[in-house]
Amino acid sequence: MTDTNLVLRMLEKVATDIEGAQEHLTELDSALGDGDHGVSMTIGFRAVRQVLPDLAREDLAGILDRVATTFQAAAGATVGALLGAGVTTAAGALKGRKELGPADLSLAFRAAADRVMDLGGARPGDKTMLDCLDPAATAIEGAVAQGKGTIEALEAALEAARAGMNSTAQMIARKGRASRLGERTRGHVDPGAASCFLILQSAVDFLRTYQ
Ligand code: ADP
Ligand code: MG
Repeated sequence: MTDTNLVLRMLEKVATDIEGAQEHLTELDSALGDGDHGVSMTIGFRAVRQVLPDLAREDLAGILDRVATTFQAAAGATVGALLGAGVTTAAGALKGRKELGPADLSLAFRAAADRVMDLGGARPGDKTMLDCLDPAATAIEGAVAQGKGTIEALEAALEAARAGMNSTAQMIARKGRASRLGERTRGHVDPGAASCFLILQSAVDFLRTYQ
């Protein structure tokens, strides 16, 4: 993936899809948290949409960095702080790259997952966004090890992210606001895992049409 314009259009689609999922994310966060997740994600991606036209001359790392800091500032909440930091770190890992091949994707996803773990102290299995992000990163690493191409690696990440998101329904929340509800969190999908999956689904949907 080399075309900056393509990346900007992909991000535009992600913003639209996340806004469209606002109610769904609000419902998930109403069961487990304070119900603000749909609004935080929408506000974050509306701000992202507004900066996209300014990013036409940036390289991949530059785009991702601006998107992350913009999202972080606008979304606020836990998702703004953690996902914003994760994507900022991923952007740093991609500095100077002109293309986004499977190995770069692998580096970026792993950097983001590690940063979220360092900052938030959660691990896979704690019922957070990491139960989407970490399996996605592992799937891309596996795809790279098997010599797969970019879109195949992303498809593998998407399926792992979907399974990871769904698996949160069986988990008890051990981090964040939801952890206060203990056993009562079982049976509900984690909102942060769901929004992480939706971002990836929207991006992969877009990229598929360019294969
Ligand atoms: P809040 O309203 O509590 O500030 P958000 O609604 O923005 O949080 O986001 C909630 C999501 O954040 C959760 O569903 C979970 O996926 C994620 N989350 C919460 N705490 C952590 C953590 N320590 N590490 C990783 N993700 C976390
Ligand atoms: Mg919340």
